[in-house]
Amino acid sequence: MSTATVASIFENQKLPVSFEIFPPKGDLTLTAARAMASELAELKPSFVSVTCSAGGSGNGQATPAIAAMIADEFDVPTVAHLTCINASSQSISDAIADMRERGIANVLALRGDVIPGNEPSASFQYAKDLIPVLADAGFCVGAAAYPEGHIACESDAASIEHLKMKQDAGAQFLVTQLCFDNERIYRFMDAADRAGITPPITHGIMPFMSKDQISRMVFMCGASLPSAIIKLLAKYENDAEALRQAGIEYACGQLIDLAQHGVDGLHVYCMNKPEVARAGIEAVRNAGF
Ligand code: FAD
Repeated sequence: MSTATVASIFENQKLPVSFEIFPPKGDLTLTAARAMASELAELKPSFVSVTCSAGGSGNGQATPAIAAMIADEFDVPTVAHLTCINASSQSISDAIADMRERGIANVLALRGDVIPGNEPSASFQYAKDLIPVLADAGFCVGAAAYPEGHIACESDAASIEHLKMKQDAGAQFLVTQLCFDNERIYRFMDAADRAGITPPITHGIMPFMSKDQISRMVFMCGASLPSAIIKLLAKYENDAEALRQAGIEYACGQLIDLAQHGVDGLHVYCMNKPEVARAGIEAVRNAGF
C-alpha cells in the first residue's frame, strides 16, 4: 500500500504528473473505480486525487474508500478530497477517523460550493478553517488555488491573500483550478511568488471535449476562453470527434508548455477517461520530462 505523502513526492520527483478522478456514479462505484484505476496505474502517475461531491447524483461517500483502494491495491499514492461547507466538528472528526482507519495519507481540504438552501457550517467557513484540523490529525494537506481567482472573489489580489491564508493554516501543496490560458497561469505564478507562497503548486489542466462541456466549465468556475479555443470550437462545430481530439491536443500543448516553463507539477483532470490521462502523461514524458 502506498502511504507516500504528496509533499515527499514533490521533494523526490522532478515533475510529478498526477490525475484527478471522481467516484463513478451508480451502486458499483468501487468496482468501476477499480477497473479505471487499473488502467491509470499502468501510466505510473505520481498520485491520483479523488473528488468528493456534496451529494446529488454523485457518490459523495465513496471518496475515502476509492482513494484507499487505489493506494492499497495498485500502490499508487492518492489524495482524498474533503469539503467542509456543510460539515460539523463531529462530521469532520468522523471523516478523519474513517480516513485514518483506511490509511489515507493525503487530503485536499476544500470549502466546497455554496448550495442554496443548505445551512453553511458554523465551524468551517473557509477551507483555511479545515486545513489545521487535518494537519493536526497527521495528514499531508493540500488546498485549491485559482490562477484566475475564485469565481466569487472580487479581485486577483484578494484571491492571492486567501491562498496565503491556506499556506499559513498548514497547506503543504496546492492544486490549481482548470485554466485554458497558460499566460494567466504564469501571471498567477509570479503573483504567488511575490506573495511568498512556497508550497509546490501543481497545475490542473482539463481537455475540452465539447462545446457544452466547456460552456459549463467556463460558467461554473469563471475560466477565460482564449480565442484559439473559440476558433477550434467554430472549426469543428459539426464534427464531435475532431473537436474532442482538438481538445486533447490543446491540453497536451498546454502541459508541455507548462513543463518547459519549469512548473512544480502537472495535474490532469482526466474526467474518468483513461485515454485522456494517457494522452496527457505521454505528451509530457515524450517531450522529455
Ligand atoms: P475557500 O478557500 O474557502 O474560498 C471560498 C471563497 O471564499 C473564495 O471566493 C475565496 O476567495 C473566499 N475566501 C477565502 N478565505 C477568505 C477569507 N478569509 N475572507 C473572505 N473571503 C475568503 N468541490 C467539491 O465539492 N468537491 C471536490 O472534490 C472539489 N475538488 C476541487 C479541486 C480543486 C483543485 C479545485 C480548484 C476545486 C475543487 N472543488 C471541489 C471546488 C471547490 O469546492 C470550490 O471552488 C469552492 O467554491 C471553493 O473551495 P475552496 O476550498 O477554494 O474555498
